[in-house]
Amino acid sequence: MKKITILLLLITGTSFSQINPEIAKSAVNIEMLFPEGKSKALILSYDDGAKQDKKLVELMNKYHLIGTFHLNSNKLGSDKDFNYLKKEEIKDLYKGHEVSVHSANHPSLVVLSKIDIIYEILDDRKELERLVGYPVRGMAYPFGNTDDKVIDAMDGLGIEYARTVGDSYNFEIPKDFLRWFPTMHQFAKAYWEPNQPEKDNKELELFYKKIDDFLQTKELAVLDIWGHSWEFGTDQNKWNEGEKFFKLLANNKSIYYAKQIDLVDYINAYRNLKFSVNKTSVTNNSKFDIYIKINSVVFNVLAGSTMILNY
Ligand SMILES: [Zn+2]
Repeated sequence: MKKITILLLLITGTSFSQINPEIAKSAVNIEMLFPEGKSKALILSYDDGAKQDKKLVELMNKYHLIGTFHLNSNKLGSDKDFNYLKKEEIKDLYKGHEVSVHSANHPSLVVLSKIDIIYEILDDRKELERLVGYPVRGMAYPFGNTDDKVIDAMDGLGIEYARTVGDSYNFEIPKDFLRWFPTMHQFAKAYWEPNQPEKDNKELELFYKKIDDFLQTKELAVLDIWGHSWEFGTDQNKWNEGEKFFKLLANNKSIYYAKQIDLVDYINAYRNLKFSVNKTSVTNNSKFDIYIKINSVVFNVLAGSTMILNY
């Protein structure tokens, strides 16, 4: 019985491709590359807007790294929980980086009513936009908490991606940008509990192993590391550790250093490419030059152009 089924499949497969020669073309494997044909992207995102962000941004700027900073506008200027940045510091400090929503007051959104979820997001978005002077379109969930109800409530609020804290330990591009799982927390889970040097060392080992995997991989890869500058506190060892991993990732020609929203815009533009049926031409209606790879041939599809694909 098994033999007959396999035989039938073989016969069907053969005749199918003979009758429809174009089918092979539509099975062409088209891959996305990042800007300038790069195969890796790095996202560094930090939450809460603590005063230590000043030192962190200084360190990132030193290594030409780009960050995404998720802020709680109603907390700015207060000394409750910890020292927050002042509103008047936001625009200059995060120049060249992305400012993004983290809710106005940092509640766990999953326990709120719909109207309060909307308020928390929209109020934050509006105030941050007033501070930075551009549309704020990204978000990180406070405490990383989300569910279907929260995501439903976000519909129409202009939030185009939202990051959780569910570490994936992989380098994949999220299918659903409102359920964005980062690769991992900075230093993995080292320093999560005080006085656990053995656990800290193990976690640091895992962290640097993942960074090395990212640097070595030949696959398309996004490394997305999240954390808080207040976690460094006043501990110089942690700051040194921070500088060490920034150095490892800095100035690498195969890495696209991106604000999270820029990566989202680029991926959306790639997904919106219009291919001809037989994949021999493509139209790029976006403002980005989009890099694609077909059968190992790399094409730069210029912004606003139609291109013939010879491969
Ligand atoms: Zn937070």
